[in-house]
Amino acid sequence: MSYQGMGNPVFVLGDDSERTSGQDAQTSNISAGKAVAESVRTTLGPRGMDKMLVDSTGEVVITNDGVTILEEMDIEHPAAQMLVEVAQTQESEVGDGTTTASVLAGQLLAKAEDLLGQDVHPTTIVEGYAAARDIGYEALEDLVLEEELDDALLRTVAATSMTGKGTGDVNADALADLVVEAVRHVEGEEGANRDDVRVHTQVGAASSATELVEGIIADKEPVRDDMPRDVADATVAVINTELETREANADVEYNITSVDQLNAALDAEESELRRYAEAVRDAGVDVLVSQKSIDDRVAAYLAEEGILALESVAKSDVSDIANATGATVAGDVTELDDADLGAAEHVHVERFGEDELTFIEGGADASSVTLLVRGSTDHVLSELERAIGDAVDVVVVALDEEGVVPGAGCAEIVVADRIRSEAASIEGRAQLAAEAFADALDVLPRTLAENTGMDPIDALVDLRAANESGRAGLITSGEHGEIADPVEHGVIDPVAVKREALGSATEAATMIARIDDIISAE
Ligand code: ADP
Ligand code: MG
Repeated sequence: MSYQGMGNPVFVLGDDSERTSGQDAQTSNISAGKAVAESVRTTLGPRGMDKMLVDSTGEVVITNDGVTILEEMDIEHPAAQMLVEVAQTQESEVGDGTTTASVLAGQLLAKAEDLLGQDVHPTTIVEGYAAARDIGYEALEDLVLEEELDDALLRTVAATSMTGKGTGDVNADALADLVVEAVRHVEGEEGANRDDVRVHTQVGAASSATELVEGIIADKEPVRDDMPRDVADATVAVINTELETREANADVEYNITSVDQLNAALDAEESELRRYAEAVRDAGVDVLVSQKSIDDRVAAYLAEEGILALESVAKSDVSDIANATGATVAGDVTELDDADLGAAEHVHVERFGEDELTFIEGGADASSVTLLVRGSTDHVLSELERAIGDAVDVVVVALDEEGVVPGAGCAEIVVADRIRSEAASIEGRAQLAAEAFADALDVLPRTLAENTGMDPIDALVDLRAANESGRAGLITSGEHGEIADPVEHGVIDPVAVKREALGSATEAATMIARIDDIISAE
């Protein structure tokens, strides 16, 4: 492209760049966004279907999780990529509702396309959508349940987020129990810290064998078989340096001319290695956790001293173990002092099939817990890990943000109705956009109905009517759906999940609708 001004042309873009403008740009962006949203629509709700994603290396992921599907898909279109970001924001902010947010964003785009077709200006759409979203926020606040957030209610919230996620109906309740117990365990004055609940997966047993461990699990076995495997009231040291001779590190050459010299050099090396083990013993350490490797000979000395040592422990595990036990990560074992050391009530090694795991329980400093998630195959386990992760997130978020709302499409219907009735007060054409926003929200209950095999039009009409006189959602239990009170049926979502979905979907849709020029470099 060039600008032919006075004199020489000014080249603004490179020769290879492509440009799409105006309506073409809008249509192309909107179609891409809609297509992406459509791809996850069938996974919404308890009877949503799973997707099998195969990447270029043949790796298979089977999932029902919106954000996972979108991340695994190889999406290149920049506008479509924005929908992936909606799901990612939703996941990082609140941990659940990723399908809801992307499906809503897609529908807001579809409605925006209609509005553009009726010559409503993009800025007016943005204005109307924002006004509708704000009405929606207020309606959500009014929907927050009065009930106290006790364990029973939190279990319901956890179970709602897990339904349809490969947990199996029988197990969801038991897993929800564990999730609530885990969060309660780490809850402090200022709520619960999400990172204190760790999830560790271990293949080889049914999901019903999932258990809560009051501590941290390291995916490691002791460096040597003759080390202790069970230590009570353990003093724990955590280091992040290698335990081997300095020479081995520096790669120096010995310049040796006699057997005596050779022996002297070997002795020096040997005594240096022994000094490490002795220093650890003298500091009173029972369990040594190292982020780096430990030389075989040091390990042998440590074993002689009756010390349980773990080597090459993942960095994140190292810092979590240090946090939980109250140890500081040290760089030099020969200078360990009391302030560096931590403590744990019980450190023990357990065998699971071919793997051995080390449990560090009852840390002196922080109450970290680990959900040891079991599953019969890796695919089952990965999906379960995502489901349980979501459940932990929603319980933390429900506690944090102080509130939950009825699920199963109830919140969306009520919010849409409120927007319709208040849209009248919005001036000009933005009113049309606000009404379109309300219609877009209907996609969520409609999709729930479709995925349950209900007639979507009848279901929506009935659902609206039922909400005039009470509180109603499209409750799925087993094979069929019915219109009933979500709270009574234990279908409850954190208000933060719904709020975030409204916000991030609106943001993405308006951002895409406002673009009227795509300039891409080759
Ligand atoms: P998301 O990625 O948006 O969380 P999900 O597939 O988890 O998508 O579906 C979430 C929706 O399913 C929520 O609106 C929730 O209220 C609803 N839901 C959960 N359990 C039930 C149920 N038993 N009956 C009807 N709706 C349910
Ligand atoms: Mg969910």
